[in-house]
Amino acid sequence: MKIGFIGLGNMGAPMALNLAKHHDIIGFDTIAKPQGIELADSAATVAKDADVVITMLPNGDILRAVAAEIHPAMKTGAFHLDCSTVDVETARAIATQAIATGLSAVDAPVSGGIGGATNGTLTFMAGGTADAFAAVSPLFDIMGQKAVHCGDAGNGQAAKICNNMILGVTMIATCEAFVLADKLGLDRQAMFDVVSTSSGYSWSMNAYCPAPGIGPQSPADNAYQPGFASELMLKDLNLSQMAAIAADADTPMGQAAAALYQQFVENEDGRGKDFSAMLPRFENRQRS
Ligand code: NAD
Repeated sequence: MKIGFIGLGNMGAPMALNLAKHHDIIGFDTIAKPQGIELADSAATVAKDADVVITMLPNGDILRAVAAEIHPAMKTGAFHLDCSTVDVETARAIATQAIATGLSAVDAPVSGGIGGATNGTLTFMAGGTADAFAAVSPLFDIMGQKAVHCGDAGNGQAAKICNNMILGVTMIATCEAFVLADKLGLDRQAMFDVVSTSSGYSWSMNAYCPAPGIGPQSPADNAYQPGFASELMLKDLNLSQMAAIAADADTPMGQAAAALYQQFVENEDGRGKDFSAMLPRFENRQRS
């Protein structure tokens, strides 16, 4: 397969490098020039001969601009596989535009972060037709360990933002519970031992514990260096709230989590820190 890869940043570059072990890859990025990938001078050049063009871009506006440039350049019958995290509406608009141009589109945002991209262990959540999903599945097998077909176009993004809304909410709940436990005189190790094996358990507590020195190794043990940066969590929570408004879904906890991460990132020095740094944030506060 000839694969074009557009957006060679923290995630895109290692994903492209894994694909390059099995396929012909040509890449493009406006800034990044990673070693080990043949580079073209424009997105349209990358798109011209590709059987599949993969995009891994920062947001929906950039994705729309890149799609407008590459779709007319792509071969009839080629696939646009977008792995960025963007709003559901953009993913659906891109698919409609692709189909109108004689292409197929799959939205397949990822979970697993930079480590998963490097090690080829990402999870993909995909939206698009069953045929399109089947056609690009061999690429998921190289870049990841699991791919779930979530339904029609946009449903991959829907799954991603619902998952990350749960993650943001449970991380905040875990952090505020640790601080309440501290103030009640409960040892953090005892708190972890109970909650991680009781009904309060979650991925945030069990796999990514926000308390340093407790549970498995996590960014808390590395001075809250990301990991998954707070501003990326804020991006995903904002996408969840855009979708909730559009779908008229009542999501008060997701709304509260978005507001708290916004405050943390914009007013409280949270930018650049892992999203589990909510724990020291709560530690430094009182109730009123
Ligand atoms: P990044 O900022 O490191 O990479 C994005 C790249 O896109 C940059 O290198 C940038 O130069 C390039 N770019 C921007 N505009 C472009 C254009 N018009 N044409 C070509 N290239 C362009 O971001 P990332 O961390 O690699 O994340 C990429 C996507 O993956 C985002 O949507 C993010 O939300 C999602 N994601 C990231 C993580 C993570 O842990 N970093 C985890 C899951 C999902």
